[in-house]
Amino acid sequence: MKDEKGILFILSGPSGVGKGTVRKELFEQATDLKYSISMTTRNKRPGETDGVDYFYKSREEFENLIEKKQLLEYAQYVNNYYGTPRAYVEETLAAGHDVFLEIEVQGALQVKDNFPEGVFIFLFPPSLEELKNRIVNRGTESSELVINRLKEARKEIEMMGAYDYVVVNDQVEHAVAKVQSIIQSEHLKRERI
Ligand code: 5GP
Repeated sequence: MKDEKGILFILSGPSGVGKGTVRKELFEQATDLKYSISMTTRNKRPGETDGVDYFYKSREEFENLIEKKQLLEYAQYVNNYYGTPRAYVEETLAAGHDVFLEIEVQGALQVKDNFPEGVFIFLFPPSLEELKNRIVNRGTESSELVINRLKEARKEIEMMGAYDYVVVNDQVEHAVAKVQSIIQSEHLKRERI
């Protein structure tokens, strides 16, 4: 017999490691997971859709959600808020579906306080040099911001010990395959006989 409640999977890791790319590729393939669409105060980028990529909120609306405890976790990242809607996650898990979050490290640690039974996956860069190149090559940022992001990434990597799994993102397909096999193992572990 299967555990009736769904499993919460959290994919996290340092800025620039490629979490978004791995998550998008995973969802091209996996159908049973439910992706929790985050709330953010950042501006919509070209090609993004409200309610698909994010729920876009004003600062005031977001702060109201914080106050009403409607977020499971939230964090400030590059001067914008990002957060996970609590009701969606709780209701979807209770209905027996697995939920997948793709969030930065501060938020993941908050989720761990509330959902220690969640499965925490840390996406690791192929090397620190490679992470540095990725952050630098985003190209749109001042050198001061790049230095801050690198410092932040180093701090985030120190949090790796709090996670259940570490997946190296050497190639997107490899990382996706590893995440899929983690999902499968966690299901097997929770099967009851
Ligand atoms: P972006 O602005 O590039 O879409 O996302 C910036 C960062 O915010 C990424 O590291 C992404 O994983 C993270 N992020 C997206 N949604 C959430 C969320 O709901 N909570 C937290 N804590 N981080 C999030």
